[in-house]
Amino acid sequence: MLSNSLVELDRAHLVHPVASYRGHEKAGVRVLRSGQGARVTDASGHEMVDGFAGLWCVNAGYGQNSIVEAATRQMQELPYATGYFSLGSEPAIRLAAELAERAPGDLNHVYFTLGGSDAVDSTIRFIRYYYHCLGKPEKDQFISVANGYHGSSTVGAGLTALPLFHAGFGLPFDWQHKIPSHYSYRNPVGTDPQAIIYASVGALRAKVAELGAERVAAFYVEPIQGSGGVLVPPDGWVKAMRETCRELDILFIADEVITGFGRTGPLFACTTEDVVPDLMTTAKGLTSGYVPMGAVFLSDKVYNTIADGAGAAAIGHGYTYSAHPVSAAVGLECLRLYENGLLDNGVRAGQRLMAGLHALADHPLVGEVRGRGMLAAIELVTDKANKTPLPASSEPARRIFDRAWDNGLVIRAFANGILGYAPPLCCTDDDIDRIVDCTRTTLDQTL
Ligand code: PLP
Repeated sequence: MLSNSLVELDRAHLVHPVASYRGHEKAGVRVLRSGQGARVTDASGHEMVDGFAGLWCVNAGYGQNSIVEAATRQMQELPYATGYFSLGSEPAIRLAAELAERAPGDLNHVYFTLGGSDAVDSTIRFIRYYYHCLGKPEKDQFISVANGYHGSSTVGAGLTALPLFHAGFGLPFDWQHKIPSHYSYRNPVGTDPQAIIYASVGALRAKVAELGAERVAAFYVEPIQGSGGVLVPPDGWVKAMRETCRELDILFIADEVITGFGRTGPLFACTTEDVVPDLMTTAKGLTSGYVPMGAVFLSDKVYNTIADGAGAAAIGHGYTYSAHPVSAAVGLECLRLYENGLLDNGVRAGQRLMAGLHALADHPLVGEVRGRGMLAAIELVTDKANKTPLPASSEPARRIFDRAWDNGLVIRAFANGILGYAPPLCCTDDDIDRIVDCTRTTLDQTL
């Protein structure tokens, strides 16, 4: 059992990310104690399938001894080496090389961060530097997509298009702009995939024309929008946006923090449409949540322009824990696991997950089931014909989350009535069936 004193200590001292502080104090903390495979157990011994892989990150699943051993070995041998200046460590060099070999096209240069938000921040700094090197410092306007999420750092949060991450902070982001989302279930242009692609391309062109092409630096996409509610663009959307950026002479950035490392099937989701971004961000599945790490991939063009432009001068961008050797050792082992069965298992499990969730489509509360691979969502409605959303409040979502937990399933219940799924790639058939069964039971109890 979770001792009262731990709940009280949490209430008094631990400030939780993305939480209502007062709401949390009232509800009290839920503590997970252990995990094995796709299952986690809470402090009272209650076992659940982790349908959300922690926070879309434990792609390899819990209890992978070889990851623990890789981290232990590295900690014993050399727990820290800076990547600053011209120093380095073997695992960081090897991981960069392995990633570059697998990355799309000429994304041959890897810059390690601590997670996704600072990876996005790093792209902004690299891009600004790049245009300075090209003698075009006026190219300083950035565009992203409504419903997108690109982290919550002070600079990168502006590219995040979810109101929660802006309200109350008062930070000026007048150099960051949005175009409407491709959200097909609720799109003013309708559900026709070609019409949605056409509208997005048109919106990007219009935004660039409004700002002036000579002022626009870059356009950011998630291959599938995650935190916005698992919004899957029509097939061909990512490629169309990439091509439009090329025509408009602006950089195209794929934020694969969620979609990377097998989440949608392949190692990187943009390869599904043969898209090669100018820069790409990853984190989460890179180290499967065992230790923190993110990575920015830079194309030859971007890297060489910066390197040549700076000449002998150092480029002043770095973190103490960039290229951390323990994180890199974990990353190398995760990559080995992905390529020795986990990606394949994820593809199989993803097909079972999507089939199971689609079988819930006739439930009176289910408006839409969508997803790809091991990334899925169910959008709940109170009236299917009119697509009436659940009341926009965190209360119904909280109740659904609580019921699912009691039924043996951890899911993400978004405040707008969308249920998110991102289970570990190691799920067995039984894990997937339990995710679907618990969801059905939870929905029945919610009617
Ligand atoms: N970019 C995307 C697409 C994300 O989904 C996230 C986090 O969920 C981030 C960036 C930020 O990553 P982190 O939470 O590791 O800072």
